[in-house]
Amino acid sequence: MAKLTPWESQLINVKNTCDLMGLEPAVYEVISHPKAILEVALPLKMDDGTVKTFTGVRIHHNDARGPTKGGIRYHPHLDMDTEMALAAWMTWKNAVANLPYGGAKGGINCDPKILSMGELERLTRMYASSIAHFVGVDLDIPAPDVGTNAQIMAWFVDEYYKLLGRITPGVITAKPISLGGSLGRSTATGRGCYFVTIEASKVYDIPIKGSKVAIQGFGNVAKSAAFNFHNAGAKIVAVSDSRGGVYNKEGINPYKLKDYKDKNGKVSGYPGCKEIGSIGPLTAECDILVPAALQNALTGENAGDVKAKLIIEGANGPTLPEADKIMEGKGIIVVPDICANAGGVTVSYFEWVQNRQGYYWTEDEVDQRLERVMKKAFKDLKEQSDKYDVPLRTGAYALAIGRVAEAMRFLGRI
Ligand code: NAD
Repeated sequence: MAKLTPWESQLINVKNTCDLMGLEPAVYEVISHPKAILEVALPLKMDDGTVKTFTGVRIHHNDARGPTKGGIRYHPHLDMDTEMALAAWMTWKNAVANLPYGGAKGGINCDPKILSMGELERLTRMYASSIAHFVGVDLDIPAPDVGTNAQIMAWFVDEYYKLLGRITPGVITAKPISLGGSLGRSTATGRGCYFVTIEASKVYDIPIKGSKVAIQGFGNVAKSAAFNFHNAGAKIVAVSDSRGGVYNKEGINPYKLKDYKDKNGKVSGYPGCKEIGSIGPLTAECDILVPAALQNALTGENAGDVKAKLIIEGANGPTLPEADKIMEGKGIIVVPDICANAGGVTVSYFEWVQNRQGYYWTEDEVDQRLERVMKKAFKDLKEQSDKYDVPLRTGAYALAIGRVAEAMRFLGRI
């Protein structure tokens, strides 16, 4: 059987949920098409004087509940299908967290690791000016994703201000604090994973303290998740990145591992550990698994070997539908991405609110509000999953699609 693309697997979840809820066919008809797609050519003058053309995209999936919102990804294998799926997941995620946003995504097919700082800045500014008419504080609000960071948001916003002739910091989120960024944003996604785990651990009786946690990835989301679980008394037994993975049944101190990775550029080789490769954490002996690298990590091939009792999807789209089925059969609980990793966009929303108010909150205020949103999102989706007697993922889709459908009905779009 041909492997499903991320967009196709997203559509399967959406279609099944629409059928389960008995929604009018117009709902699926609208949400199975992105609202708008922009593709731009970005001819970049490289440091050596040659010109290389990159492709930039920005996709708005659905804006019934508010301006669209979603990250910008810099990745050498960026493709339209994945970007469309990521944009749709943002619609569902924003609706699950009950944020007043639709969904979007975008990016450039480049490898930021091999561009110089100058090339990265020129490319980002060219992308910002090329899509400026497609973004806006009340239209579409980008943020970072894989391969981008606060510095890239800063270049983007500076270019946007120049074109607009006005300072509107709410046009992009996860900015540096000195440019109107929110306290707590850089660690929010991993922190949010931890808050939903607290709720899930109560419902399914899997205590965090003393549990063994395996994490795929050691980037923004994974690191923050690792620190939170470690601080709550869990043992981080496995961690990986794109260059390899490490396992130690006695536990790995994630702060020391971060220092090691900062120095060596990889987690592989960390003292006292067994080498398990990049995908090793997915099937490692553990209680809680946090896939926090990229999409399509858990497949029909490896799902049968997953040992975790609880999966917290830090990454977007880490589980293929066939893997879901296998894990459901094994009684593994999966807290889906559109709830588990909503912490980042939630604090991005807080940043947007603070930018518009021109009044800034303390880190504690941000953290308390984030905790409330994440725990409520989990409770709301659990209620839906109980109502329809379906796994949490379908419960999350039911919650999100129900909310989006209601907005579309009021708007008269369906
Ligand atoms: P990042 O670039 O900071 O980190 C990605 C990590 O994954 C890196 O450690 C990289 O080495 C690792 N990785 C890449 N390919 C791998 C492979 N094949 N095996 C193992 N590790 C691999 O990105 P991030 O911001 O942490 O995002 C990670 C995931 O979380 C993505 O799916 C992203 O869409 C999602 N996400 C991010 C945020 C956010 O706020 N940053 C919010 C929601 C969802």
